[in-house]
Amino acid sequence: MVGNIRYIVYFVIALTALAIGVSAVSRLFIKADLPFDYGSSRHESFVESDFGELKSGDLINAVNDIPVESAFEIETLIDNKLPGDVIRVTFTDQSSARRTLPVTLVKFYNDYLFIIVTTIAGYAFWILGVFVVASKPKDKAAILLFLTLVSFAVAILSTSGYYGRNADWIGYVIRISHPLSYLLGSILFLMFILNFPYETLRSRNILTYSLYSLTGVLCIYVSIACYLTLRDLDTHWHDVYQNLWKLCEIILFTCLILGTIILIFKYRRITDRVGRSKIEWIFWGMTFGVAPFIIFWLVPNIFKFQYFIREELILAFLLIVPVSFAVAVVKYHALDIEVIIKRSIIYFTLIGLMIFIYSELIFISSNILTKYLGYESKIFYIVAAILIALLLNPLRMKIKSFVDRFFFREKYAFDKAIQKISLMTKECHSYDELGDMLLSEINTLIPVKSIAILAKTISGDRLRVIAQNNFETVQKNIGAFRVKNLLSRVDLPFSYEQKVEPDLPYNNKMEAILKRWQIAMVIPLSFDSSEAVGAIILGDKLSGMRYSKSDFQLLNTIASSAALVVKRLELQEKLIMEEVELEKAKEISELKSYFVASVSHDLKTPLSAIKIFSELLQNENITKEKSGEYLTIIEGETDRLKRMIDNILDFSKMEKRQKQFSFRKLDLNKAASEVMQRMSYELRMQKFTVDKSIATEPLYINADPDAVNSVLENIISNSIKYSEKRKYLKISTVRNNGNAEVTIEDGGKGIPGNNLEHIFDAFYRERSVESSNIKGAGLGLAIVKNIVDAHEGVIDVQSKEGHGSTFHVTFPIYENGNEDTAN
Ligand code: ADP
Repeated sequence: MVGNIRYIVYFVIALTALAIGVSAVSRLFIKADLPFDYGSSRHESFVESDFGELKSGDLINAVNDIPVESAFEIETLIDNKLPGDVIRVTFTDQSSARRTLPVTLVKFYNDYLFIIVTTIAGYAFWILGVFVVASKPKDKAAILLFLTLVSFAVAILSTSGYYGRNADWIGYVIRISHPLSYLLGSILFLMFILNFPYETLRSRNILTYSLYSLTGVLCIYVSIACYLTLRDLDTHWHDVYQNLWKLCEIILFTCLILGTIILIFKYRRITDRVGRSKIEWIFWGMTFGVAPFIIFWLVPNIFKFQYFIREELILAFLLIVPVSFAVAVVKYHALDIEVIIKRSIIYFTLIGLMIFIYSELIFISSNILTKYLGYESKIFYIVAAILIALLLNPLRMKIKSFVDRFFFREKYAFDKAIQKISLMTKECHSYDELGDMLLSEINTLIPVKSIAILAKTISGDRLRVIAQNNFETVQKNIGAFRVKNLLSRVDLPFSYEQKVEPDLPYNNKMEAILKRWQIAMVIPLSFDSSEAVGAIILGDKLSGMRYSKSDFQLLNTIASSAALVVKRLELQEKLIMEEVELEKAKEISELKSYFVASVSHDLKTPLSAIKIFSELLQNENITKEKSGEYLTIIEGETDRLKRMIDNILDFSKMEKRQKQFSFRKLDLNKAASEVMQRMSYELRMQKFTVDKSIATEPLYINADPDAVNSVLENIISNSIKYSEKRKYLKISTVRNNGNAEVTIEDGGKGIPGNNLEHIFDAFYRERSVESSNIKGAGLGLAIVKNIVDAHEGVIDVQSKEGHGSTFHVTFPIYENGNEDTAN
């Protein structure tokens, strides 16, 4: 079929069905019935309720002299009469007397409820069918669904009704359409299920051909039987037609059950969530819509039970079928049809349905009550009416929120999510919190395979990942994302054609990067097109569908509230950093002034000594002995001065990483002895008891002699400084486990245990020391540690407050090498 012809054919089919439906419904209003109940079993029909002379149980032999054996035959005969017509009923009463009575026919449907429900159900099927084929005119499953729905629409609308007093052609068409549409609908439904959501039975298959041909033959046979029955009411065709009608019911039953089973199997085979939800709805529609029809109508009909539920209710249940199919089509894009429906239509339909079900319940329960209480009371209806009135508004609100949540989930979630997220973002106090919150919120709103949240680093141009899920690639290649690249024309996501729905505009600037790292969309966190502070990076949606306009609107709103938070956090961080820097600057300036004060004091002491003794030396009367003593003092103080200045210079070099060592073979024993020699002046002045225990064998190490001197001098001068009461110092050297070790022990004030770990920090001075008048800059041990480390040595200290301290310094023994190995 090509182009227009296809549409013309659909148009003709749909219109014919509609025409048959409309005329059939109009004839339901004039469907006639006997004024008493009747039923049939095994070639006998009988009266079921008393009516004048007719008593329940009387056999009905003939209507208008035409012999009848079943209720079916009676109905067919009466169906060409009008309410008000008088017919002759021949019956056999309990006393076996056979009599004929004139009976005036009444209306079959008194309250019109059935007609209304039939009409709604029938048109719902028809509209859905037409909609489906109009949306997907070339899709096989859609065409089959269209034909199925339209057939069932005709089946529902053309319920046996008046077909014309003299059997006019319209009457024939309506009457024949009824069994035919049943038959066709059944087979087409089965074919639809076989083709949905994927093809199970190929069209050019022998089974398909035979199924269609058999149906075709059966259709012709049914049409002939029906036509002949109607043309001449008193023939054996009546029986044939009746049996064929039964067969149609059995076929319908079989197809519905078979279709459901196939659907269950298909459902089990489909693993993806979206595919399943498409089927689920059709399945539930079938279960809740068709099951009551099968249980309460079809089965009793086939097996000749009485109906035990109102026909209207069965038909109302049947309405669930098109509704659920519609949900499958609209919500889950079954048949891949995308639709936009007005909310109000759904509200009204659902509210109507609710009221209908509600009034049915009231009707049934008041009937039951009437039956049990034995009298009919209007009060039940009044109570029911009040109840409906009271419940209507809350019910309406409930339905509204249900419809919003269910059919317009995105919109509903959109409004809720915005409220929720704007509240939650206010609560975010760190990037981690923000990242985690966005991750989980976005994932619940639009489930995605992977997601990452980026934020600007404080330094500016770079971005960092603050949270991610399945996006290690982005984390690794974060360098490829630049803040300036995120600037896009106002409100456009970065994406590319395959990832977005056609109506969503996008910026394809980053297409190459996005494709390389399986990114479907990048949404900048920005306030306007001039500044971006981060981005939301998204992989594909879990549903496999493209990003829609509403997805983007939702994400974009989230992005702008997230942008505000990022900006706020950025400012906070900057403020904190500035505060820290300010603090640091303050500390440094304090240290500097402290350093200057203490160093100048330290420098002043030896300088004043030098000055005093040089003045004394100028005295002409000075003895040689005295002048020798003064000169020793001047030399000692000069050494101290030199040490101090060396320390300051060393530290400054170390700070700038400019300190260089000239390593050579050095005997630690010799170095220790020389230092002790140099320090002897100070030790003597301070009246120290000195104990010296130098190893007998030389302890060669690879070291810078000046640096080693500095180590020993600093430790010894600390011992001198911090031993105010017990003035004792012991120095020993020893070879220990392949190391050369020098130990300096004093009996001074000691260092409290918890301060031991800090004494090697630059500028660190113990509190008690600081408050005392012992001066120092807190640099000595920092220099010592730096030198020992550079020599691959180890320094450790044992100390007990009030009992003195012991410093161990070990250097690796120098095994081979030249005496002049500079580094
Ligand atoms: P300072 O210029 O203050 O002496 P150091 O770096 O040489 O600086 O020493 C750091 C701190 O370690 C000193 O302020 C002192 O509190 C403590 N300290 C170092 N050596 C000794 C010691 N032999 N006895 C007691 N305390 C010591």
